[in-house]
Amino acid sequence: MSNLKPDAVFDGLQHIDLEFLKGHHIRGILLDIDNTLFDMSYYLSEEIINWVKSAKEKGFSILVLSNTYHKEKFEIIKSNLDIEIISFAKKPSKSGFLRAAKQMKLKNDEIAMIGDQIFTDVVGANRVGMFSIYVKPINKKEYWYTAWKRPIERMILKHYGYKFTG
Ligand SMILES: [Mg+2]
Repeated sequence: MSNLKPDAVFDGLQHIDLEFLKGHHIRGILLDIDNTLFDMSYYLSEEIINWVKSAKEKGFSILVLSNTYHKEKFEIIKSNLDIEIISFAKKPSKSGFLRAAKQMKLKNDEIAMIGDQIFTDVVGANRVGMFSIYVKPINKKEYWYTAWKRPIERMILKHYGYKFTG
């Protein structure tokens, strides 16, 4: 199976049914930051905050897996969501994902990675046998280093028969 193929695709984090995750024996969740939790305005919506809250209440372990270190973003996440962050994760390389699994004390196939980029979030998760969930980016306006990859991602999703409306 190609590492480019997400195991599931959703319109946004808040649309992911927690029972769906439980059905796939998922106990841990890894979250991307940019365009998954918030866009360039760093605005965390009520829906996202509530989703994270109910995931915690349902017993899921949650970590943020980020390729960068950004003080302001990290503080917003910590103060609003109260979740730990693994920075400089080097997605899609395996190291950050394996570190997260170790920290969560879970097996790789009990963990779902949720993110808006195929070439970092999805590929990295697939490489270590985690459940990969692609979410539609929150905002079309985004950093240049991400924007150029979008047409390719749309082609990949289409190839695998996923509907992509972003
Ligand atoms: Mg992202």
